[in-house]
Amino acid sequence: MPETLEQSAGRFDTVLIANRGEIAVRIQRACRELGLKTVAICSEADRQAPYGKTADSFLCIGPSTAAKSYLNQDAILLAARLAGAGAIHPGYGFLSENAAFADAVEKAGLVFIGPTASSIAIMGDKISAKRAMMAAGVPCVPGPDTALPDDPATIERIALEIGYPVIIKAAGGGGGRGMRVVPKADVLHEAIALTREEARKAFGSRSLYMEKFLEHPRHIEIQVICDDHGNAVWLGHRDCSMQRRHQKVVEEAPAPGIAPDIIQPVGLACVQACLQIGYRGVGTFEFLYEDGAFYFIEMNTRLQVEHPVTEMTSGVDIVQAQIRAAQGHVLDLIQGDVTCEGHSFECRINAEDPESFLPSAGVVTHLALPAGPGIRVDTHIHAGYKVSPYYDSLIAKLIVHAPTRAEAMARMREALAGTEVEGISTNIPFLRALFEDGAFAQGETDIHYLEQWLKLRRAA
Ligand code: ADP
Repeated sequence: MPETLEQSAGRFDTVLIANRGEIAVRIQRACRELGLKTVAICSEADRQAPYGKTADSFLCIGPSTAAKSYLNQDAILLAARLAGAGAIHPGYGFLSENAAFADAVEKAGLVFIGPTASSIAIMGDKISAKRAMMAAGVPCVPGPDTALPDDPATIERIALEIGYPVIIKAAGGGGGRGMRVVPKADVLHEAIALTREEARKAFGSRSLYMEKFLEHPRHIEIQVICDDHGNAVWLGHRDCSMQRRHQKVVEEAPAPGIAPDIIQPVGLACVQACLQIGYRGVGTFEFLYEDGAFYFIEMNTRLQVEHPVTEMTSGVDIVQAQIRAAQGHVLDLIQGDVTCEGHSFECRINAEDPESFLPSAGVVTHLALPAGPGIRVDTHIHAGYKVSPYYDSLIAKLIVHAPTRAEAMARMREALAGTEVEGISTNIPFLRALFEDGAFAQGETDIHYLEQWLKLRRAA
């Protein structure tokens, strides 16, 4: 007999958090608020992590290098068994988009807090993702939804049909790698050969595809949340165009200057796509936006670093909703309930030199964090915390919310002024300067803006 909703809900009462840093704190908090017990894990470098003390169990699973700890699937599964966890939350990065891991977790009889392994696999291959999106009516960047053949004449014909400039992308690419822009025909074959070799080495697959290169796009994304019972909603949009080397630095919600009637059909198409592929949990559809049109580039099948800006505007606790979906609960909101209010910004505070952007490790000797209405800080650091050189340099996320974008900017300026981190270098001076910039204040800057702004500042 099939399970009733009541029987299937509440599939676990203890969650192992397979991650570190600020997101480990964020997930632990959500679990506790839902009445769930937590298991924290760490590498040797993270033994002093504050979330270890507040978890119900804390296990060191391996040496400092991520490959031997946070990426060690067997060690994580063993820790889950030892600590009696019924579910694993992967956070972001590390194993969060690893279909084999999601599969191994489920095979071990545990719940993977995320989509099924097959959803992760479809979306992890950019060609199959594009095909699934086109089938669901999501607008995509012009170009075929098939891998490039080896035949040079066919490749040339595809490029001509799309029109130069084109971009060659690895089907298995990620993290801004495995892409090459081709401005004109005479460098096409060289670009293909180089990208194929890079893709084979970095992603273990030489599969490539080609699409139109958009010259001045903005990066706009749509947050979705789905349950296991055929319900899905989108929670508005974010603008993440402030990027350096394809890495997001500042995010905001909503994306400024986007009329509701333009974004509405895109959001609904994303929901439709989720229903068609049987998607479960939270996810993000990333788009490039140029001249009033949206073009899908990829889907992230996990919680994202920038989820707080959507939490601030929608009032939905995305991490709790994600956990409840994994427990088998029916989504407790419908699209008509979703209202996004005000404006939110997030600054990623990184332990890095504000000029060279080189990572900065060491002990935090003094820490002052801002507080007040509409200010939120997601962090795992404290005075005396040792920032290790082994992992991502993100040490805190500063998030603000206010009725209007201008007020939210003013609030962020004030929050940044009240943030003091000593003992290590951080990008705070750079963020303070960025929030004084006139063009950013106007909004609607494209994905190249930050790099150009940095170049001008260096030249001045
Ligand atoms: P990754 O998975 O490596 O992050 P994405 O497909 O999300 O790769 O692309 C990363 C970034 O590369 C985008 O945010 C954008 O800056 C740029 N990019 C990707 N596709 C295009 C395109 N068709 N035209 C212009 N820029 C692109």
